Amino acid sequence: MTDLTRLTLTEAREGLKAKTFSATELTTAHIAAIEKARALNAYVLETPEHALTQAAASDAKLAKGQGGPLEGLPLGIKDLFATKGVRTTACSNILGNFVPPYESTVSGQLWRDGAVMLGKLNNDEFAMGSSNETSAFGAVVNPWRRKGSNVGAGATGAVEGAHLVPGGSSGGSASAVAADLCLAATATDTGGSIRQPAAFTGTVGIKPTYGRCSRWGIVAFASSLDQAGPIGKTVRDCAAMLGSMAGHDPKDTTSVDTAVPDYEKAVGRSVKGMKIGIPREYRLDGLNAEIEALWQQGIDWLKAAGAEIVEISLPHTKYALPAYYIVAPAEASSNLARYDGVRYGLREPGRDIAEMYEKTRAEGFGAEVKRRIMIGTYVLSAGYYDAYYLKAQKVRTLIKRDFDEAYAAGIDAVLTPATPSAAFGIGEKGSSDPVEMYLNDIFTVTVNMAGLPGLAVPAGLDRQGLPLGLQLIGRPFDEETLFSLGQVIEDAAGRFPVAERWWG
Ligand code: GLN
Repeated sequence: MTDLTRLTLTEAREGLKAKTFSATELTTAHIAAIEKARALNAYVLETPEHALTQAAASDAKLAKGQGGPLEGLPLGIKDLFATKGVRTTACSNILGNFVPPYESTVSGQLWRDGAVMLGKLNNDEFAMGSSNETSAFGAVVNPWRRKGSNVGAGATGAVEGAHLVPGGSSGGSASAVAADLCLAATATDTGGSIRQPAAFTGTVGIKPTYGRCSRWGIVAFASSLDQAGPIGKTVRDCAAMLGSMAGHDPKDTTSVDTAVPDYEKAVGRSVKGMKIGIPREYRLDGLNAEIEALWQQGIDWLKAAGAEIVEISLPHTKYALPAYYIVAPAEASSNLARYDGVRYGLREPGRDIAEMYEKTRAEGFGAEVKRRIMIGTYVLSAGYYDAYYLKAQKVRTLIKRDFDEAYAAGIDAVLTPATPSAAFGIGEKGSSDPVEMYLNDIFTVTVNMAGLPGLAVPAGLDRQGLPLGLQLIGRPFDEETLFSLGQVIEDAAGRFPVAERWWG
């Protein structure tokens, strides 16, 4: 039999329907692949028994011609999603061995639709990071290697300077999808955490419009920016995943009560006559020539498919990153106040309650999370609130207005690079200057600040043989246009599977 883990999600769905293989066979193949790939450190918890029980139930349904849209399809779940009865840590020591007594709405919808859970995926601690190096479980390894690199799996996992980061914060999700350790994965995106890792691993990721997916049961980072979305092997796979993940939830008052379209219908739809905006402010001084060329290639592909290319201006772009790094830490400092040693996970005893709080938080949070809490507390403190937080919120309104004006002028979507570079080495960035790491998000944070949908799709390889992605930004609640345009790029660029399974 062919290797079932090489299939895309939608191919596997057809195979199950045609009874070419069973959900149990498909799941067993993935469990075996995960066991061989432990050196990638993509999973922080494997749940094979759980997966096989779900797969058996799916097989029973499929045998009767029943089942949901994702029946029998094995997925990985980012460890930010609460999973009932299954350890959920946000990859932080402070959550310790927290086992939620509830299921996040998004993952619950996947199980409702028949999907199978293979385990929980690594991420940056509380989703704060761009490289997955801040995880309490250690760095995730990107299955891609630089051309000519023969670095092996490494006895103790990641080899600093030799292995590449998969991006972050959804690095486990991206690495697992790229290495065929699941058919697709859930992820979250506060400033780029779906799109940047997708770009670094040759996979597809979409951050839907703010409010499209429920945030209920997802460990909160910055509540006004956080959104769940899928990472998959293809545009179509992401469309199928989002159809199950999206939808109104009365338990999240920011989730929007509009019908969820059949996203797959948008895949392959003509883009003729669509107006694509190319924002001149994204042509950064000193932009990597290969990224520049990739962007031009994307423009040419969309033009060839009948889209009209229009240069546009989004004048407040340059303020997005600094404003994001005020708003996100501010909300994080408030959200993380709940980890006090009383209700969840870790508790370090102290002489009194204040000392217990201090010791628990000092012990439980990693350095990047502490940095965010300090920045956030500072920008929210009396005397600085107006100067920083309030100003950042005003800038945010201006960023959103830039997009509103472009869309009001008839632009259907905006095309930009997804990241300023390809994947970098583990330990290579940010250790002496955290801002170096923050600059990774230069093309993605605007989308969260404006609440818009953004899709990252692989578009080429750089000189080192590493994948690069393009980003498509849409109108609010118009993910469909992104899927149509994304498919044009996927058709033109081809897919980017990892050639060699060097890790095991
Ligand atoms: N890299 C960004 C940060 O560290 C975004 C992370 C995310 O989207 N969760 O805040």
